[in-house]
Amino acid sequence: MLSTETLINELQTKGARLADPRIGHASRRGGAGPSDHKALTIEGSTVMVPVHTAPAFESPFLIETAPSGRSRILRDGVEVAEVSFPERPRFYHLSTADGVPYSKIAVLHGRDVLATTVLQSCVRYQSRTKTCQFCAIGQSLAAGRTIERKTPGQLAEVAKAAVALDGVRHMVMTTGTPATPDRGALMLAESAAAIKAAVDLPIEAQSEPPDDYRWFGRMRDAGIESYGMHLEAISESVRKRIMPGKAQVSVETYYEAFAAAVPVFGQGQVSTYILAGLGDGVADILEACERLVGLGVYPFVVPFVPISGTPLESHPPPSADFMHEILAPLAQMLRDGGLTSEVVKAGCAKCGACSALSRYEKRLADQASADSAP
Ligand code: SF4
Repeated sequence: MLSTETLINELQTKGARLADPRIGHASRRGGAGPSDHKALTIEGSTVMVPVHTAPAFESPFLIETAPSGRSRILRDGVEVAEVSFPERPRFYHLSTADGVPYSKIAVLHGRDVLATTVLQSCVRYQSRTKTCQFCAIGQSLAAGRTIERKTPGQLAEVAKAAVALDGVRHMVMTTGTPATPDRGALMLAESAAAIKAAVDLPIEAQSEPPDDYRWFGRMRDAGIESYGMHLEAISESVRKRIMPGKAQVSVETYYEAFAAAVPVFGQGQVSTYILAGLGDGVADILEACERLVGLGVYPFVVPFVPISGTPLESHPPPSADFMHEILAPLAQMLRDGGLTSEVVKAGCAKCGACSALSRYEKRLADQASADSAP
């Protein structure tokens, strides 16, 4: 029998086929964050599993619903787990007074996270020589599934409805990078202030490091509890190859910004996304994680997923073993540093659906309580 962590690693790296594409609520294609995925709940954990990527079409995993209504995951024809799906959110049925469907303003991620890309365009997405090669931020806009700029009023309206109708518990606001030196901090702060005026919802904002670190205090004062600045890759050579525009901001600049942000947002409330499988080795990633945890930053390591239509659509995802070699020691490192996903107030590190990391944390916590039981 596969452990839940191993099963999640396998599913997130290999993807899964769907016996019936209508199963669960609609999966996303394109956009920032997890695209080409479907949200599945396995043993109480909701995780994002690629279902529309090239590897998913060849995957040994098949998700099917029996005539009884019970859904399950098969591997090479043998059942390995029962599965359920978050309901289609009720707020998706609503539109703003000016006729924009709420689902074009924000979407449900995982089970209880409201996610939006405040600015659905990016200074780094304009040319092939600058774009981050894994990114699909322009695809959902081109397909008319979202709007380019979500106003603070629209975000507040949707957040209020998502809390009331669907019980969302926290919110992620990411953004494409604008050409302004604040890298979107003003827009994120204005959006957070409007949301907080409408509803009590913990918010994580994500952006590149702003030029002036006083923006951290302004964003916190506007109501942003957690903040992400995403390295994506660690080695300068990998960064230059995979994200030539964003790599102009050095890793050391990120570390400076982390050191300035942690005292403002608090230990564990600053995080970074690291995509495993783009070329950094296990040792590179773990070494960076050690430095990050030492600074009070939560390194959220997720398997790279090759999104259809991006320059990396044919790049292989990492193996499940590669993920295990990183996530098992990382969970221990986080536990030792007191930075577990449970203490994060909002955002990706709290949601955890794009990685098995929080399941590794849970296993360590369960072991510790079993060891301390009389
Ligand atoms: S971890 Fe972040 S990107 Fe992934 S589903 Fe959760 S909120 Fe969305």
